[in-house]
Amino acid sequence: MEDKKRVVPDRRKGKRRKRKVNTALGIISRVLKTIGTVVLSVFLIVIITSCIFATVLTIYVLNFADTTSTVSLDRVAESNISRFVYENPDYDEKDPNSQQYNLYYAIRNNSKHVLWADIENIPQYTQDCFVYSEDERFYQHDGIDFKRTLGAFVNIFLPIYPGRQGGSTITQQTIKNVTGDSDAAGIKGIERKIREIFRTINVERVNRKEDILQCYLNVVPLGTYKYDIVGVQAAANFYFGKDVKDLTLGESASLAAMTTAPAAYNPLEAPKENYVRRKVCLNKLLENGAISDDEYDEALKENIKIVGNFDYSSASVYDDETKDQGPTDYFMDEALTEAEDKIAKYYGISTEEASAKLNGGGFTVYTTVDKNMQKTLETNMQNAANFLNYPIESDTILSAAIAVDYTGSVKAVVGGRGTKDKSRTFNIATQGKRSPGSCIKPIASYAPAVESNLVTWSTKIKDEPIVIKNAQGQNEKWPQNYSETGGGNWSGKYMFTWQMLAQSKNTCPAQLVQKLTPEYCFNFLQEKLGISTMNENDMHNYSGVTVGGFNEGLHLSEVVGAYMIFGNGGRKYELSYINYIEDAQGKVIYEKTDGYKQAISDDTAYVMNRMMQQVVNDSQGTGRNAKLITTDLVAKTGTSSNWEDLTFVGCTPDFVSGIWIGYDNHKTIPTGYYKNSDALWKAMFGELAEAEPNKEFDVPDSVQKAYYCTQTGLIASKTCRTKAEGWFKTSQLGHVCNH
Ligand SMILES: [Zn+2]
Repeated sequence: MEDKKRVVPDRRKGKRRKRKVNTALGIISRVLKTIGTVVLSVFLIVIITSCIFATVLTIYVLNFADTTSTVSLDRVAESNISRFVYENPDYDEKDPNSQQYNLYYAIRNNSKHVLWADIENIPQYTQDCFVYSEDERFYQHDGIDFKRTLGAFVNIFLPIYPGRQGGSTITQQTIKNVTGDSDAAGIKGIERKIREIFRTINVERVNRKEDILQCYLNVVPLGTYKYDIVGVQAAANFYFGKDVKDLTLGESASLAAMTTAPAAYNPLEAPKENYVRRKVCLNKLLENGAISDDEYDEALKENIKIVGNFDYSSASVYDDETKDQGPTDYFMDEALTEAEDKIAKYYGISTEEASAKLNGGGFTVYTTVDKNMQKTLETNMQNAANFLNYPIESDTILSAAIAVDYTGSVKAVVGGRGTKDKSRTFNIATQGKRSPGSCIKPIASYAPAVESNLVTWSTKIKDEPIVIKNAQGQNEKWPQNYSETGGGNWSGKYMFTWQMLAQSKNTCPAQLVQKLTPEYCFNFLQEKLGISTMNENDMHNYSGVTVGGFNEGLHLSEVVGAYMIFGNGGRKYELSYINYIEDAQGKVIYEKTDGYKQAISDDTAYVMNRMMQQVVNDSQGTGRNAKLITTDLVAKTGTSSNWEDLTFVGCTPDFVSGIWIGYDNHKTIPTGYYKNSDALWKAMFGELAEAEPNKEFDVPDSVQKAYYCTQTGLIASKTCRTKAEGWFKTSQLGHVCNH
């Protein structure tokens, strides 16, 4: 390097000037080049970074747009009402006036006052008051005022006007009020704004301006410090005691004056502030030529009377949904409990929170109720004449009834006899623990015994007790038979299975339980039939699974629910009061599944079905007073020890139903009247069951009618002298008598 440096000056001397120029130019050019490179590089970096950033932002925003649900304005009408509806049995698809679902019960949110108003009922000047004071260019823009939106973004970071609803058009405010997606600071605020922009563009694309404004006027908050009032209808009612269609211009301006801060500007609590802003609003209308000078003057001079209370009867929308619904009936009680449970599960909240959410409104709950049956049952239950067969203290005898279809949908339930004057009261059918008596036999012993081929229709069984250890550890002959004449007895005679069941002998189920073991029967009830009210003590005990003598008792709803297996091929569905639930936006948040447990096979189910028809069809059947003329009835009577409880459960091709009768504190029902549970069932359900006459249960291929030998109980051969008809699993037809 040193050598080179020394040589160079000599060579430079002769061309000094030129070199100087060259050097200067070179430096400039090099500097420029460098600057150029730097600028270009920076430029490229900026471009590339921007591209990356833009791409990332685009992806982000597009993802956002994807995950942002569309906002429907249709369902906002019901925003503070949760509606429980039922399927209209007279629904006619071709009739435009026919509704598929009718209102069963509406729950209003009493802390939030909303009443729907159609745009046609809202005066033009009322509409104008809101449009001109909130969003002058409403009819021109596509939902977003970009200049104002930019301001809003700035405001998120530099809150120059804190608390201002910066840049929101009527469309944006509507979306904000409908979705409850409220202001936030920083990145969350930006996200909310982006989400709102997408929703706004979408809402503007699919709705007419008129519909957007209608929605806005129904969701705009117009409350006081004390009352949450939403929409012009509820506000017109509260502040001025009139329907929205009767509002004056001055009153309209008074409402529109409140929007920025309702509590601070409402005409009841802040009349001066309201007046100032009312004037601003009227000025806007005047400026935009929406009103004349005269109208302006008149509106300002208007002497506005403030009422300040709710009397919805003056509103045009005072109807089934808005009026006081009175106490809930027994069906609604259950539907409410189930709805709260499903809502809690969906949102991952407690049932208390779910209850508040449901009361907050907007849900539509599609119930399983058969309104006609429910009302008929309520009437029948309150009709004292139906209980005259219980002459002693007939007025205080308690009763409960329930009906379910073959997929577990509850059609009707009445949990007590008197007038129901409170919501959510004790329901004997679903909460009471009472002995089902002999109604336990088909589900706890006969069905599992037929299922495991322990017995057929005509197995010969001796009417004699089993020997079990009593509480003192001594051997005891058990159980006694009940008889219609009172007192227990063992005939020692042989009877066929179906006769044992029809005459409700206790000895046969005791023998079956002994063979199956009490534990097996207990588990069958619990696991296959979903009976969960039994306790540990019942598991090793003969009494419960043989004659229904459980430690505490069962819910009637459980027993009735279990009987569905005899009418649907052995399938056990859980009981339900709700088919599905929609949120305020119409999104299904719960839907009943068609899941079931195959408790017994279809052949067992049908053999049981035919055996239990004998309970009403046979001349000695204990339920013969319930016999229907036109419809198959599969049934069982139940009487608990000491005549404390009478139960009757019946299956007709359309539904399973049951009734229970008894006194409080397990008082004895007078002997001699017990046999009337079948007649009472018929009084309650007979007409309902025969509404669609000539119905029969379907016979599965796996079951056949056949003759059996009345001497041996086996399938009859040609040489058997006496035979009778019975129903058999085809798999057992080979067990022929060898007479
Ligand atoms: Zn024979």
